[in-house]
Amino acid sequence: MKLKTAIIGLTGCFGCQVQFLNLEDELLDLLEVLDIVHFPLAKEENSDGPFDLALIEGSVSTSEQVKEVKEMREKSKKVVALGTCACFGNLQGISNFQSKEEVRRTVYGDAKLNYEAIDVAPIDRYIQVDHYVPGCPYDRGILIETLKYIALGKRPLRVDYCVCAECKLRENGCLLIEKGQPCMGPITRGGCGALCPSYNYTCEGCQGPSEDAAEVIDAYVKILKDKGISEDDILLKLRKFAPLYKPFLLKILKGSGPPKEVSKWKSR
Ligand code: SF4
Ligand code: SF4
Ligand code: SF4
Repeated sequence: MKLKTAIIGLTGCFGCQVQFLNLEDELLDLLEVLDIVHFPLAKEENSDGPFDLALIEGSVSTSEQVKEVKEMREKSKKVVALGTCACFGNLQGISNFQSKEEVRRTVYGDAKLNYEAIDVAPIDRYIQVDHYVPGCPYDRGILIETLKYIALGKRPLRVDYCVCAECKLRENGCLLIEKGQPCMGPITRGGCGALCPSYNYTCEGCQGPSEDAAEVIDAYVKILKDKGISEDDILLKLRKFAPLYKPFLLKILKGSGPPKEVSKWKSR
């Protein structure tokens, strides 16, 4: 029996939903196991549920989205956080460092808009998530693997190593240690095959924090400082993980270690 599937987007760029449509070579095979009954970005007629599977793109950043994500959870047997926004909050979490009014005015000017902005958060701040597929957007192969495991009723494999592990496998020189560039590979979840360092660009953390980032971040920040990178620049880098760790980032830079929120980070 096919899995009745919903695909929705919260706050994001739609890239992870579009990435699903980009699965050209695999889409027909996927439709043998998934019955996509709700996908407002791509379909005119959409089911109200219930669903076997919900793929949720985007972070939660309004009170309306809190309701939306909770309703989707109630209607769905399994929930997948699709992409780094849903898994970790992603870049829009930078707005957690500014006042909501300032952000609204910067983005929308004087337009009157009827929404209540809240701190940007990953979806598991509000609901239980069964599986995570990080990436901005996610690697298509990893999504296919994840969906295969779900269709077989098994738990998908998790990437539990950082970008550096993949970078070493590719025998790249290290941009951080050898060139003093602020590469985020040591604290970033692998899965992309160390794409950016392989082309001589620093990793910018788009897969979200690695499983052991909380343990290694003190040492990582120390290396950055030893390389002459200022605290302001370090914060600019690390605040991409702000939806989870704003207090953590601020404390790290003051040298007082990680607060309790870190336990959430480690649980993924
Ligand atoms: S994870 Fe990246 S590609 Fe996906 S919705 Fe968010 S910003 Fe867009
Ligand atoms: S270049 Fe970046 S990802 Fe590669 S080993 Fe160095 S720090 Fe890690
Ligand atoms: S190297 Fe870093 S920034 Fe580049 S794709 Fe991988 S996780 Fe994203």
